[in-house]
Amino acid sequence: MLLKNGRIVDPANGIDRVGSVLLRDGVVAGIDVEDSSATEVDCTGNIVSPGFIDLHAHLRVPGFEHKETLATGSASAAAGGFTTVLCMPNTRPPLDNAQTVKELIARIDAESCVRILPIATISAERQGLASIDYDAVIAAGAVAFSDDGDSTIDSGVMAEALRATTRLGAPVMVHCEDRGLVGGAMHEGAVSAELGVKGLPAAAEEIILGRDLMLAEMTGGWLYGLHVSTARGVELVREYKARGVNVTAEAMPHHLIMTAEWVAGRRHFVNCNEPDGEPTEAPDALAKVNPPLRTAADARALLEGLLDGTIDVIATDHAPHAMSEKVGIPIEAAAFGMSGFEVALPSILALVRAGHFDIPQLVRWMTSKPAEIFDLPGGRLSPGSPADVVVWNPEQRWQVTPDALKTLSPNTPLLGMTLQGRVVRTFVAGNEVHAA
Ligand SMILES: [Zn+2]
Ligand SMILES: [Zn+2]
Repeated sequence: MLLKNGRIVDPANGIDRVGSVLLRDGVVAGIDVEDSSATEVDCTGNIVSPGFIDLHAHLRVPGFEHKETLATGSASAAAGGFTTVLCMPNTRPPLDNAQTVKELIARIDAESCVRILPIATISAERQGLASIDYDAVIAAGAVAFSDDGDSTIDSGVMAEALRATTRLGAPVMVHCEDRGLVGGAMHEGAVSAELGVKGLPAAAEEIILGRDLMLAEMTGGWLYGLHVSTARGVELVREYKARGVNVTAEAMPHHLIMTAEWVAGRRHFVNCNEPDGEPTEAPDALAKVNPPLRTAADARALLEGLLDGTIDVIATDHAPHAMSEKVGIPIEAAAFGMSGFEVALPSILALVRAGHFDIPQLVRWMTSKPAEIFDLPGGRLSPGSPADVVVWNPEQRWQVTPDALKTLSPNTPLLGMTLQGRVVRTFVAGNEVHAA
C-alpha cells in the first residue's frame, strides 16, 4: 500500500511535508520510497500521520455489552483514527486478577480491529480497600493500574500500588474524587445553582489529586493523573513535576472546549471560535461527565497546562452508555460519561483553528507522546514501525448523528452539531480497518 500525495505529519521524526508512505508486511517500509507493485491510495488534501493512541477509554467488556462491544468499540476507535487504545477495568467482573485479564485479551484478539491494551484495577473488586497481585496482572498482559470511576479509598493500598510501579514500569492511573463529596451530577457553581442540580465541587477532585501526588512523592512511584479538569489541579501537577515527582497527566477534549453551561443546554464552546450549537433542553444529561464540565477559567488553565507541558497527552475517556441510561430520566439518575472516540479529532482541531497550537503538536499529543510514556512500538512512521496509520481531512465537515457514528452508544452532547475534521482511512498493521 502506497499512501501518496498526503501531508505527512510525523513529529517523532520531525517530518511535516507532502510525500508518500509505503506500508508493506505490516510495517512502515519507508517515506518517499517507490514500489511499483504497491496499491496506490491518493491522499491529496489529507494528512497522513501515525495512528492515534488513546490512553484512556472504556470498552465495557466484559459485562456491559449493551453499552459497547469490542466489535463496535474498536470500529468506533478506528473511525476516530485510534489504532491503539488502553481500556479501563471498571467492567463486570472488574479486571483485578490475571485470569480475567487473560480472558479479555483472548476476546480482544478475536473481536477487535484495533490494538487494545487492558488496564488492571488498583484494588480488589475495585473497592479501594485491598491491593491485588500487581505482578500477576502485568505478567498476564495488563499495562497499568486504575480504579477509574472511583478513587482508591485506602491510602495504604495506593502507596503499595505506587511502590509496584517502580518494579513493574506501569503507572497507577488515578480518578480523583473524594468519596465524602460525591453525589452531584454536574460542576458545583453558578450553573448548578441556576438549575437546582446538586454539584460536584472542584475540591473533591483536588483533595484526592493532592493526596495521590503526595503518595507518589513519598513512594517514588509513577502516578498518572486521569482527566485533570480544574485550574488548581493543573497547578498541583505543575508543582509536583517541578519537585521532581514522577507524574504524567492527561486532559480530555471535552474539558478543553466545553463548560458547565452545556448542562444548561447552552452549547457554547470556549478556547475556540466554533459556532454555538442549537440549545438543548436543560438539564442536558448528555453533558453529564465525571469529572464534570467546569468553568471557562478551568478550561483556559487546562489549555495552558497542555501548552507548557504540565499536561502530557490528550485522551478521550470514551464512555459509551445506552441512551436509555442518559436521556428521558432525571439527570441525577443518568450515567456519567460521553462517547468520545469519533468526536475527539474535530474537537481538538477547533483549538488548532483558534491558533493555540499547530497540527504537528496535536499529532504529538495523540501519537508519539503516549507511545513514549507507555513504551509502545507505534506513534511514529519510522521504517520498521507498525503500519498503524491514519489518513484524515482537517477541513471536512460532517454532522454528528447516531447513523454517522460506529459506536453502539452515541451519547455525546455534540449530537446534531456539524463538526470540522474527519478521519478518512485507518490502517492497523497495514490492514484497512476504517474507510469513510
Ligand atoms: Zn474517571
Ligand atoms: Zn474514565
